[in-house]
Amino acid sequence: MKRVHLKKGREESLLRRHPWLFSGAISRMEGEPNEGDIVSVISQNGELLGYGHFQIGSIAVRVLSFDDAALSPYFWKERISAAYRHRLSISLKNTDCYRLVHGEGDGLPGLIVDWYNGVAVVQAHSVGMFLSLEKISNAIKEVYGEQLMAIYDKSSGTAPFNAGLDLSDGYIYCNDAFESAKEGVVVENGHKFIVSWEEGQKTGFFLDQRENRALVERYAYGRNVLNLFSYTGGFSVYALAGGAASVDSVDSSAKAVAMMERNVALNALSNHHSFCEDAIDFVRNSPEGKYDMIIVDPPAFAKHRGALRNALKGYQRLNSAAISKVAPGGIIFTFSCSQVVDSYSFALAIFSAAAEAGRSVKILDRLNQPADHPVNIFHPEGEYLKGLVLYVE
Ligand code: SAH
Repeated sequence: MKRVHLKKGREESLLRRHPWLFSGAISRMEGEPNEGDIVSVISQNGELLGYGHFQIGSIAVRVLSFDDAALSPYFWKERISAAYRHRLSISLKNTDCYRLVHGEGDGLPGLIVDWYNGVAVVQAHSVGMFLSLEKISNAIKEVYGEQLMAIYDKSSGTAPFNAGLDLSDGYIYCNDAFESAKEGVVVENGHKFIVSWEEGQKTGFFLDQRENRALVERYAYGRNVLNLFSYTGGFSVYALAGGAASVDSVDSSAKAVAMMERNVALNALSNHHSFCEDAIDFVRNSPEGKYDMIIVDPPAFAKHRGALRNALKGYQRLNSAAISKVAPGGIIFTFSCSQVVDSYSFALAIFSAAAEAGRSVKILDRLNQPADHPVNIFHPEGEYLKGLVLYVE
């Protein structure tokens, strides 16, 4: 076993079961570990702290287990079946798509698996996870049995690109019935969506907005809705199904807009218009009071701490435009999926936006990520999606 030895006193975070070991905590390495190897982590006084995937970078080890579970041949099956049992226990109704593995939240740091009605889309975010894909895929097969049609690896955009890995996306398993379908149809809260794991963003669909979309459906009745950063129309379909008078959806990706139109048609909905445009320009150029509900769900403005200040300014500018334009008595659903922006800072950015727009705003609801995107209590960094429902007087 290759070993990583820590400097004096640097075992604290691992003793608190935080799964990341930063490179600055290491005093020496034994056995010349390669990226992706499983290493043991040893404190200065010789105590074994856990086992994890070694990586070159600021996070040097992602801990898989604080005991010897990571060495067991049943490790992958046990973790993935635990994740599956958890998804069965959260009572998803009329829904056949969910996140099966949410990295650290499921004790598998660096791994994402999304389930789309028989197709598992896998994303490795570390070399260790990438090199374990065969074991992961065998475990998924064992856990799902007949229900599994295919496993698609989509790690090319997420695994470290400079590690000399052969990164090309593709199917790593298909059963006989599965004809390399490029896309599938899933049901979420009774609404249908076409998901293209090959062509779409991330693994194909933003599963993390499921519960927030259901809330949009409740608020939408009779309203003229503007859905900014609409992607394939998740919020638009729910708003129309909830009886919105009209929905205008805006996204800068032509592919996303084309898919959104198919999704609206698939659910036999009308009163929808889509615009392939910049969302900020669109809201700034729209007449005041035209919309009495606006959804603002941009991509992450800050991907790392260094971008935090500019990101907060970006949220402020965007939301100030939405708050100025919404009709009196209007509702705004606003989100941030930047992990480095915590919910307090986000609320402050929205507070500044309301002040800039010069309108009275009440917070009706505070939103976050759903139960299939769990946060490991020892790893608060797993919390990333936050949102507010605002009432603008
Ligand atoms: N609300 C969506 C997810 C949004 S993801 C859902 O529920 O599925 C963010 C989206 O913003 C992506 O579809 C991306 O294409 C789009 N986007 C990024 N920058 C944009 C911009 N400047 N104007 C409009 N859309 C943008």
